[in-house]
Amino acid sequence: MIPTSEVQARAQERGILPPVEEVRDGVYAVPLAMPFTGLPYSFSYVIRAASGELHLIDTGLDTDENWARLTDAFRSIGSSASDVATLTLTHLHPDHAGLAGRLRRASDARVGMHIADQRAMHAGAHFVEPVSANTVIAGWDVPEGRMEEVRDAAIRPVAGSPVEVDRPLVDGDRISAGDRELRVLHTPGHTRDTS
Ligand SMILES: [Zn+2]
Repeated sequence: MIPTSEVQARAQERGILPPVEEVRDGVYAVPLAMPFTGLPYSFSYVIRAASGELHLIDTGLDTDENWARLTDAFRSIGSSASDVATLTLTHLHPDHAGLAGRLRRASDARVGMHIADQRAMHAGAHFVEPVSANTVIAGWDVPEGRMEEVRDAAIRPVAGSPVEVDRPLVDGDRISAGDRELRVLHTPGHTRDTS
């Protein structure tokens, strides 16, 4: 994982999660841990409007620790989970969409995701784990024939469940995010069946 700031590089050297970082005016990168995946963390990007309303791009894996990290981050900028107005998911992998269900229950957030990923999710693809998880498990010396069982135990608890999508997105869509406007760029290939 390539750090994109000095703060992140320092945290990576020490093997810890970087702190929440304001990467642009009112735009915060919140690192959320990724147990079992072999990667250190993924980011939720939190855009805070002048009104206090929040607009999120992605969430992390669905764990209680990540929920605490995310809601702590909201508090640190003077907002709370109930202020989340929109949640845009870049794709359906659980390290990006995991906490979407909890956020939706804690707020009136409208959830947006590309229509191809929405279709894949309804076909059951939300249980597809990041490929890196297989690499990690491969190093555990799992006895012959028990791999499926171990993968289920390790991955399923954090794989999350499908989230209801309010707004299926396509390339070129505009998303109003408080004082900013986001533009959807379709970059297929990372998730399965999403050409
Ligand atoms: Zn992914």
